[in-house]
Amino acid sequence: MTRPRVLFAGLFHETHTFLEGTTALRDFQILRDGDMLRCAGDSSPLGGALETAGAYGWEVLPTVDYRASPSAIVEDGVIETFWQELSQRIPAQVDAVYLVLHGAMVSQSLFDVEGEILARLRKHVGAVPIFGVFDLHANFTQRMADLANCLVAYRENPHTDGRAMARLAADLLQRSLTTRDVPRMHWRHPPLMWPPTGTGTADDPMHALEARARELEAGHPEFWAVNVVAGFSFADTPDTGVSFVIATTGAEAPANAALLELSTLAEQRKTAGNVSDPHLSKAMAALQPLPPGLTVLVEPSDNIGGGAPGDGTGLLRALVQHRIPNAAIAINDPETVRRLSSARKNGQVTVSIGGHGSRLDEGPLSLDVELLWTSDGKFELEDKQSHLASMAGDRFDMGPCAVVRHEGLTILLTSNKTPPFDLGQWRSQGIEPASLSVIVVKAAVAHRRAYDPIAARMLWVGTPGPCTSNLRSLPYRHVRRPIYPLD
Ligand SMILES: [Zn+2]
Repeated sequence: MTRPRVLFAGLFHETHTFLEGTTALRDFQILRDGDMLRCAGDSSPLGGALETAGAYGWEVLPTVDYRASPSAIVEDGVIETFWQELSQRIPAQVDAVYLVLHGAMVSQSLFDVEGEILARLRKHVGAVPIFGVFDLHANFTQRMADLANCLVAYRENPHTDGRAMARLAADLLQRSLTTRDVPRMHWRHPPLMWPPTGTGTADDPMHALEARARELEAGHPEFWAVNVVAGFSFADTPDTGVSFVIATTGAEAPANAALLELSTLAEQRKTAGNVSDPHLSKAMAALQPLPPGLTVLVEPSDNIGGGAPGDGTGLLRALVQHRIPNAAIAINDPETVRRLSSARKNGQVTVSIGGHGSRLDEGPLSLDVELLWTSDGKFELEDKQSHLASMAGDRFDMGPCAVVRHEGLTILLTSNKTPPFDLGQWRSQGIEPASLSVIVVKAAVAHRRAYDPIAARMLWVGTPGPCTSNLRSLPYRHVRRPIYPLD
């Protein structure tokens, strides 16, 4: 066989449709042509797929790779620019296509961006195999199943296997190129959604579903991949939610039977996935009297790593109202930092704090504070192995910062959203988090590497905000009804 010519492209965005504003072209990190090939062997899914491609001796035809962090609805222009750039690079003859996708991308006009791109791509390349890898937080669709041949989902959350699954998908494509067998995908979407906090694969329901999916894969040689897709419930689309996808070269009936079995198992265990964070009033009652050591209050509704603005005022208001001593919180508020730049140090000033980033929040909180100090907000990471290091390298730039105090509460105001994954964020500002009684982190799970070692206890708190675990509090308009847990 001559070297197969395999077209590579990447499109990766988890779209949170309840966030304000839009995601623009400038928010994407874009690789073109030969720059894509430089990822070969790195820790990304694309890097893994390219490494496998090299091992099989494919002629890789790179095109474009667009990636952005989770954020608001994507501007239509981004999709059209992506397609223009991709279509210009499709040669007359290709033997296969390999895609690196997220699977939960939404634009101003399209609920199913990946389905649309697959449709356009299919028109160009004809009946060649289309394979690839995607994030288990995808909102998969019938269109994606009809137009692709074999897409493989991550099987771990947190995603420690993105690269490994990308390599598996490339192995399966090699099998298809060698045997000339081309699988088809079958999809089933039970009427279920789970908040991201309920989709960890160490716990049920995902643990049980993953285990059963692997058994089905082992028991059916005609199944090339059995995917458990947890969905991304913060994207409000007709296909949002849990689904299952099987790529098979066998008959349709056994695939449908397996999909039905997985869907039934998900329905049986649905309540375990509907994790809820204790209401604010309950959490504040549990907070006091304060025990010795540090209590970490976790606010998933304003999870910066999930795309939230990091300026929610839910817990800020509670700390002020309950006059909690020796406490600290970071709020992203560039406007207030700018105002404070001309204020007198140690002077009293009335400022308005946070509450701009989400219509679900109560809005800015007006507060009398003392300005302690200001800084340029740059800090050296203490943990170079952290999630933050993988995003930012050795240093992080919080932008200009101001530290203010209201009674027992210290507030760090930043100008760039700063995921709370490194204690250098506080120590660089002259604040020792371990000596506090209470600290707020705007995260869901990923902060634990930094905070577990210094925390005496950790309390998760439900407040209004775009990354809330309480899906019923979100203003859904497009999800297919009825659906659990809304109905
Ligand atoms: Zn994910």
